[in-house]
Amino acid sequence: MSTHVARDYYGTLGVDSKASDQEIKRAYRKLAREFHPDVNPDESAQARFKDISAAYEVLSDPEKRRVVDLGGDPLESGGGGGAGGFGGAGFGGGLGDVFEAFFGGNGGGSRGPRGRVQPGSDSLLRTTLTLEECATGVTKHIAVETAVLCDVCTGAGTNGDSKPVRCETCNGAGEVQSVQRSFLGQVMTARPCPTCRGAGETIPDPCRKCGGDGRVRARRELAVKVPAGVGSGMRIRLAAQGEVGPGGGPAGDVYAEVVEKSHDVFVRDGDDLHCTIRVPMADAALGTSVSVDAILDGPTNITIDAGTQPGSVQVLRGHGMPKLRSGVRGDLHAHLEVVVPSRLDSTETKLLQQLRTHRERDNAEVVTTASQHTGGLFSRLRDAFSR
Ligand SMILES: [Zn+2]
Ligand SMILES: [Zn+2]
Repeated sequence: MSTHVARDYYGTLGVDSKASDQEIKRAYRKLAREFHPDVNPDESAQARFKDISAAYEVLSDPEKRRVVDLGGDPLESGGGGGAGGFGGAGFGGGLGDVFEAFFGGNGGGSRGPRGRVQPGSDSLLRTTLTLEECATGVTKHIAVETAVLCDVCTGAGTNGDSKPVRCETCNGAGEVQSVQRSFLGQVMTARPCPTCRGAGETIPDPCRKCGGDGRVRARRELAVKVPAGVGSGMRIRLAAQGEVGPGGGPAGDVYAEVVEKSHDVFVRDGDDLHCTIRVPMADAALGTSVSVDAILDGPTNITIDAGTQPGSVQVLRGHGMPKLRSGVRGDLHAHLEVVVPSRLDSTETKLLQQLRTHRERDNAEVVTTASQHTGGLFSRLRDAFSR
C-alpha cells in the first residue's frame, strides 16, 4: 500500500530547501521558458509545467513554504490526498462503492495521513459594548487563552535536529483498518491511527517545550477595532488572530460578537433611538424647552409646544445612531409623557380650582361620542368594524 508523501516542491524546481526567494524565482522562470505550453506542446511537458507552477505557487508564498518546511503539503486541504486508500489494499471497487453509499465515506476518517501540520480552528468570543461605544466605535482589548507558535522549535515539534519518523502502528497511512462482518458482508472500517492521531508520523524526540505539538498555550491580548454603528449580534472578523494549528499550522480566525448593554435613557431600534420625557402638566399646557443628553450630540434642546398632549412624539432627525459604514444617522424619537400632579398643597389646589372655574366651558366637552373622535383607539375600532 502506498503511503502519502508530501510533494517535493524544491526538487521540482531544482533548488535546495535553503534557496532564497530570488533563486526560486530564477529557477521557475528558467523552467517555465522550457516547459510552457506555448513553447513546448508536448503532453508530458504540459504535466511538467503544471507541477512547476504548483511548486512556484507554494514556495513563493512564505506561509505555504513554512508548511512545506514543517513536512506538510499546503495544496492538500484537510483530508488526505487520495493516494493509498482502499484500491491499493486489494479491495474490489464494488465493496468500496457500497460502503460509501451506506456510510458516506470511510467511517468519518480521511484516507491517507492528514499530515501533522493542520490549520488552527476559528473561535468566537463576545464583547459587551455600551450604547455610546456602539455609536462612536471603539477599540476593545480582550485577553484570550489561545495556542501560539512554539518559539523553541518554531512549529516543527522536534527537539534540536531530530526528525519525525514514520508511525509504526499505521505504517505511515495515518489510519488503521479493520474488517468487520455486517449485513453487507465484510466491511472494512478505517479510523484515524490512535498512535499518531492521523498524522502518519511520530516524533521520537519531541521538543521539550511543546511536547511535539509545535504550539503552546498562551494568554494573548487582542485589539478588536469596532466600527461606529454596530449592534448586538454583529460579528467582527480578526483574520489569522486565532489559535495556531497543530504542527505550527496557519492560525485560525477570531470572530468577536457584539453584545450591546441596555441604556438607562435610550432604547435602540435599528438606527433610531427612543426616549421618554416626563413633562409637567403646566409645561405641557404652556410650552417650554427641555434638554436631553443625546448620544453623540451632548445636551440637545427639545421644544415642548404649548398644548402638548400626552403620548405625542417629537422626532429629532439625524440625532439617532450612525448607520454602519456611512455618514448617515437615524432619528431620535422623544415620547412626551404629561405628568399630572398628584399631591397638591393648598396654594396649588386653589390655583387649579381657579383654573377650573375659569374654564367652565370645558365641562360641555368632557364626554365625547365615537363620531366626534377623529383619531385614536375609538376611531380605529370603528373603522375596523365598519369594513
Ligand atoms: Zn499512526
Ligand atoms: Zn516546540
